[in-house]
Amino acid sequence: MRTVNAYAAYEKSANLDPYQFDVTPVEGHNCTIRVLACGICHSDIHVIDNDWGMSEYPVIPGHEVIGEVVEIGSEVTNLKVGDRVGVGWQASSCLQCRDCLSGNENLCDENKPLIIDSKGGFADYLIVDSRFAFHIPAGIETKVAGPLLCAGITVYSGLRYGGMTSGQEIGIIGIGGLGHLAVQFASKLGNRVTVFTTSEDKAQFAREMGAQDAIVIPKGSNPPEPDRKLDILLSTVPVSLDWAAYIEYLDSDGTLVMAGVPDEPLTIPLLSLLVKRRRVMSSPIGGRAMMMEMLSIADRFGIAPIVETFPFDRVNEAMDKVRENQIRFRAVLTR
Ligand SMILES: [Zn+2]
Ligand SMILES: [Zn+2]
Repeated sequence: MRTVNAYAAYEKSANLDPYQFDVTPVEGHNCTIRVLACGICHSDIHVIDNDWGMSEYPVIPGHEVIGEVVEIGSEVTNLKVGDRVGVGWQASSCLQCRDCLSGNENLCDENKPLIIDSKGGFADYLIVDSRFAFHIPAGIETKVAGPLLCAGITVYSGLRYGGMTSGQEIGIIGIGGLGHLAVQFASKLGNRVTVFTTSEDKAQFAREMGAQDAIVIPKGSNPPEPDRKLDILLSTVPVSLDWAAYIEYLDSDGTLVMAGVPDEPLTIPLLSLLVKRRRVMSSPIGGRAMMMEMLSIADRFGIAPIVETFPFDRVNEAMDKVRENQIRFRAVLTR
């Protein structure tokens, strides 16, 4: 028997308070991870606030978990005790439907999020299906690895399914937790990156991250007429923009990829899609093979989030700063 010390929201929108529970030795495909670091994502806040109507309290947030395997079930073959692994948003899937068998476990009808059906990583230990725990390459530091497991895979998979290879023109809307990673993935893989942001200092920062062009569009304004066209435009902001104007930035066969999810439906004249055979798509996290590929690319090309770290016992201070958008660019709890 092991006692797990976690932080939980006991009710909707509550601060996090200590929460203890006992676990029996792991069985089957499960493993126990000693948590070394855990990123904080806006989805943690959506679940604490029950914004999606599926939260079960107490909620133990945390789905950008990095830790060391300390115990494995009898059927675990992909991990061993002592391995450093990461766990993201997805805790399990059926592993036998067509989506799962084609490497799209993230699209499985049976897919289960880590912090809704089970307990997340704001804890000293995490118990999880080993088939959804991923080896972290040695070149990626523990304190920056967590955000790759959610923010990183979200933008990487979105760009890949949007058609990203290399040598392309790629636009990124928003330079926050998602956007600053998207700029790195797109530019380090040999694409020419244009960012759309609201301030000159974020534009300057995006250039330092690898963007060639930055278009500053103050809040409430529309983008100027494009003077060059994009193969892919990835939006990382959860707000409604003048999508009809942004669509005009896409070249023929270009794709608008929505990683941020605005509340309102998109308003795009179909004719502006039709005449240039443009597409609009959206994409949730990524499958297991894509996760391994993303981690390998991040390791080889030195791609990492910029993080602000907090000890676990200052979790509420960190959560408040995330709620108030005061973090540049991802908050991570560390030991
Ligand atoms: Zn997340
Ligand atoms: Zn499935």
